[in-house]
Amino acid sequence: MSLTVIKLGSSVVVHDDGSLRAEGIAALCATLAGRHRGGERFVVVSSGAIARGVRELGLAARPTGTDALQAASAVGQGRLFRQWDDRFAAEGLTAAQVLLTRYDLGDREAFVNARRTLAKLVELGTVPVINENDTTTTEEISFGDNDLLAAQVAMMLGADRLVLLTSTDGLFSADPRVDPAATLVREIHDVERALADNDVGATTSTLGTGGMRSKALAADVAASAGIPTVVASGLRPEALGRVLAGEDEGTAFVAGPARWSSFKLWLRHAKQARGTIEVDEGARRALQRDATSLLPVGVVGVTGDFRAGDAVDVACGGVVVAKGISGYASGALRLVQGERTERVRELLPQAPEEAVHRDRLVVL
Ligand code: GLU
Repeated sequence: MSLTVIKLGSSVVVHDDGSLRAEGIAALCATLAGRHRGGERFVVVSSGAIARGVRELGLAARPTGTDALQAASAVGQGRLFRQWDDRFAAEGLTAAQVLLTRYDLGDREAFVNARRTLAKLVELGTVPVINENDTTTTEEISFGDNDLLAAQVAMMLGADRLVLLTSTDGLFSADPRVDPAATLVREIHDVERALADNDVGATTSTLGTGGMRSKALAADVAASAGIPTVVASGLRPEALGRVLAGEDEGTAFVAGPARWSSFKLWLRHAKQARGTIEVDEGARRALQRDATSLLPVGVVGVTGDFRAGDAVDVACGGVVVAKGISGYASGALRLVQGERTERVRELLPQAPEEAVHRDRLVVL
């Protein structure tokens, strides 16, 4: 039974005036219902709460203050979900509303719990309709856009594919609105390289809110979990059907096998780093080449204020080379950095031998 996570950007769900694109949503629900009857399963990630709430509140424009945005989302989310609920019901399907924050997903227990609930909803044949819980999120922990949330949900559930529906036909070689020679990129094999080359970034700023860079970053998260991503039009109703049928539509990001275990994927993508441990060249080599644990002796600097159990970046010469769960609080680690194990034991008899244990470390 295949599972597809489908994310719809605000521009696909809501008209410019803030009213819901009811026909578009209905068409999408019909497409999904047909395939659901054929045994496929779906999770929808829908933006649009803020845009819908702004209209409901009669505000002239999208507010800029966080509290106003959060208030607008609280007003809009109910109306947004009702639309999904009604349209899926009209197709004989049951929708289930799930609101998540990055904070939830960064906590291992909450992450596992959310995964269990979502898996159960899918098993029961419902279609979860997810959005970020805007009302309780803060700027620094927000996903920012739902592309990343959708990728994390796909990763969390081990989905078979991720589809990002947007207001363009996919990813173009240049901005199609200013460059008539711009062509649709059909396939991207190496997201990381595309991002590094800035091929993708070049088309970013002009293409909508999340932009193509955010889609490529989401595709990169999914790819690291072995999940392919397609970016396609959410405005042409037939596009989704074509994507789901495996036809040439939009831009496909190809994925190889999963790179890490589920725990390490979570650590890499869902848990936010609270600080940085700077290591020397010898420690970097040991981590990257021999996949060892990081010992205090290899640590040359500690930035940030973190507790044992928090995630930290591990950097060498300013370049992040790994991410892990620290065995030490930042203050304790500063006390023993550069010290050999015997000396560490004298200074802090209760402390673990490893600053970061290899089982709790992802090397990038
Ligand atoms: N959670 C926001 C909303 O529903 C959207 C975030 C995004 O733009 O992806 O309005």
